[in-house]
Amino acid sequence: HTIVELNGVSKTFANGTTALSGFDISVQRGDFLCLLGASGCGKSTVLRLLADLDVPSSGNVMWSDTQARESLSMVLQEATLLPWATVDDNVWMPLRIKGISKTDAASRIATALELVGLSDSAALYPRELSGGMKMRVSLARALVSEPSVLLLDEPFAALDEITRFRLNDELLTLRGKLDCTVIFVTHSVFESAYLANRVAVMDDMGKISEEIAIDAPYPR
Ligand code: ADP
Ligand code: ADP
Repeated sequence: HTIVELNGVSKTFANGTTALSGFDISVQRGDFLCLLGASGCGKSTVLRLLADLDVPSSGNVMWSDTQARESLSMVLQEATLLPWATVDDNVWMPLRIKGISKTDAASRIATALELVGLSDSAALYPRELSGGMKMRVSLARALVSEPSVLLLDEPFAALDEITRFRLNDELLTLRGKLDCTVIFVTHSVFESAYLANRVAVMDDMGKISEEIAIDAPYPR
């Protein structure tokens, strides 16, 4: 069923830049949807509207599943880890903000770290991690609150090609273990074809020009 729909959404910023105009999409539960488009076409703006970090100038963002709206996690391109906190403390952070002690969060932290293959790195600091590992910590931090919707904004774009390829594979494996709807923003045609079961191609006018369903997944 439909989790969230954007209907006729437009977004014009205070400086007059129009990022979206007449943007429509309907996200189904269980989708791995890639929003594919050139830099500056409005992809991040879509995610920000979904995450309630901004409001549309016109049109609607309609959640049919309010529970999904409340359990949403977002991962950004830069792994924004707290430098003075260990890996497990970074992963604990979203639960800590909700007032959950580290003891009470311990099993969820352990599960999230295990999902991203960092069980042995819990006591390390971000400066001791490679770029790929930092991104895995960011993913674990997003997963620790057991989100039903995961928003990923070019999460691997800053990484080298090989690490990026490996993390794409890990993300697919991860997704097989989670009951999670994923919206993944990328400017890489390859990445979208590799990951998604639906690709929404955005044009430079801030709307979707084409939608592609991928029935036969890329050979894995
Ligand atoms: P993408 O994620 O596809 O690279 P964005 O959604 O970040 O694109 O941006 C779409 C357009 O809106 C760009 O032209 C960008 O410069 C502009 N933009 C984004 N955020 C703001 C803002 N807060 N104020 C003004 N312009 C913005
Ligand atoms: P990734 O593929 O996750 O980017 P790398 O291939 O860069 O990882 O690193 C391989 C291994 O080397 C990592 O699993 C980690 O244990 C170790 N490592 C990498 N960078 C550092 C670092 N700056 N400090 C300590 N250990 C590191």
